[in-house]
Amino acid sequence: MTQKIFILILTAFTLTSCQTKQTNTNNNNKAMPESTKTNNPYYSHTDTSKVDIPDSEWKKILPDDVYQVARNKATESAFTGKYWDFEGNGTYYCAACGNPLFRSTAKFASTCGWPSYYETIRKNSVIYEADNSYVMHRIEVLCGRCDSHLGHIFDDGPAPTGKRFCMNSIVLDFVPDDSTRTN
Ligand code: FE
Repeated sequence: MTQKIFILILTAFTLTSCQTKQTNTNNNNKAMPESTKTNNPYYSHTDTSKVDIPDSEWKKILPDDVYQVARNKATESAFTGKYWDFEGNGTYYCAACGNPLFRSTAKFASTCGWPSYYETIRKNSVIYEADNSYVMHRIEVLCGRCDSHLGHIFDDGPAPTGKRFCMNSIVLDFVPDDSTRTN
């Protein structure tokens, strides 16, 4: 009986969790620090050309907490990121390259502790890769422009897609609809 309960708990964890290698990315500031763009010549909300640069270059242009998730595939701790319970109207961009990823209208309240969306802005906003790390079979979600790690996708999202894009706040850059900011 005890063994049965243990297996059930283990299965539930495997199905719902996108938390693996954790990094301390606590940040109570809802605005993305400008440091993600400073000295980052690849950052653009309009340029759709691929960004293919060596890891050493990423290390130079990204803040360390962004770098750890985007390039080392770390995962921020649940319920600690900027956007897991954020409800502003606007657009979420890749914090590494500025690629448009999600509209706030596709964001939904998820109990997982990470910002969750049921669809991307465009089909090619992201790309997918099989991730068999940590004895789990998951689908990794990467930025379609710069290949940065964003999070994972699960099949327990709401209609109309039934998908849950489980993302790390630290690699997202939110711009409100009424923003006059240009990049
Ligand atoms: Fe990107």
